[in-house]
Amino acid sequence: MENRLLSAPHSAKEIRHHEFDLGDSGIEYAAGDALAVVPVNDAVFVAELLEQVGANGGETVDGLPVAEVLRTDREVRTPSKDLIADLVQRAPSSELAAVVAHGDKHELDRWLWGRDVLDLLRDAGSAAPGLDELLPNLRPLQARQYSISSSPLAHPGRVHLTVASVRYGDPHRMHAGVASTFLADRVAPGGTVDVYLQPNASFGVPADPSAPMVMIGPGTGIAPFRGFLHERAAAGATGRNWLFFGDQHRETDFVYEDELTALREQSVLTRLDLAFSRDQAEKVYVQTRMREQADELFAWLEEGASVYVCGDASRMAKDVEAALLDVIRRGRGRDEDDAQAYLADLRRAKRYVRDVY
Ligand SMILES: Cc1cc2nc3c(=O)[nH]c(=O)nc-3n(C[C@H](O)[C@H](O)[C@H](O)COP(=O)(O)OP(=O)(O)OC[C@H]3O[C@@H](n4cnc5c(N)ncnc54)[C@H](O)[C@@H]3O)c2cc1C
Repeated sequence: MENRLLSAPHSAKEIRHHEFDLGDSGIEYAAGDALAVVPVNDAVFVAELLEQVGANGGETVDGLPVAEVLRTDREVRTPSKDLIADLVQRAPSSELAAVVAHGDKHELDRWLWGRDVLDLLRDAGSAAPGLDELLPNLRPLQARQYSISSSPLAHPGRVHLTVASVRYGDPHRMHAGVASTFLADRVAPGGTVDVYLQPNASFGVPADPSAPMVMIGPGTGIAPFRGFLHERAAAGATGRNWLFFGDQHRETDFVYEDELTALREQSVLTRLDLAFSRDQAEKVYVQTRMREQADELFAWLEEGASVYVCGDASRMAKDVEAALLDVIRRGRGRDEDDAQAYLADLRRAKRYVRDVY
């Protein structure tokens, strides 16, 4: 029903707000759940892939045109383990084969980051497989999960997502993530999308409407917290709410600024701490703000606050956890082991929960 750019057009990122009407799907969600989106591949990319393997598109698979099968049924961007093994066997002296021979999974992941199936086929040159050899090595197309950024109390029958469109590369070879650009580019207004609900029972607003809540969600990590805030506002919950949000630049990346400002004015959002990493000489992140506010943050924990973290798993979640441990250590005036034990208690009580990807 809606596909709106949230980031500024000249931002380094493209973050979009997508709205769906749940119609008669029967889907009933809670704030904090995720929606799995079943994407359809880009026909232009599929055509490039077919051309690369020397196919003319007239071929059929189980009676269906191969272009259709690739568009709706196969993972055409992310190389499978089988495809990698096949390419190594075909071109044993390639760069890919050398990385694989090293046996370090992280190094392989690093090398593969930003390279898709078409890149690998092009790299393989004359050793690349043809259509019949490629097809069995393409995995079935996977659904992608997105944290729901709405509350059913505030938006009955609707679900909102906050999605960063994955686009990178150069004008000669732009790369695009499958599902994020499916939502951005290939769903017609009013069109339908196959989705299913991925419930997340442990990631929701506190059962006690008066309990305080600390939410740490930079980038698209803000998604579930927008839902939480709408939920608490709609329910008239009295608990205090503190959001740590950030991204690269305030001018281009402060998504939902108007809404957050309004929620501040309505006192639904008790505190909003912002960290725009590239707006000054030294980098400032959400964890910087947490450390700056250590005493206040620890006081909230002591008053029963639940802490929620959402967003990047590779760096942010670890850095935020380290900051949280610093806050606890300082607040309690004890050592690392004591802080770890305090955090473990929070985790056991489901008062420290993460939804990171
Ligand atoms: C529980 C959960 C919740 C999530 N919630 C959200 C959410 O609220 N919002 C959201 O935007 N995403 C969210 N995600 C991530 C989302 O599911 C997808 O992984 C993401 O949108 C990318 O999918 P895609 O199909 O567009 O890209 P894919 O086709 O899967 O391609 C991804 C690949 O592109 C490459 N790549 C990506 N970025 C770059 C880059 N900058 N440079 C070079 N290479 C790159 C990498 O090789 C990467 O593996 C969530 C994930 C999980 C598991």
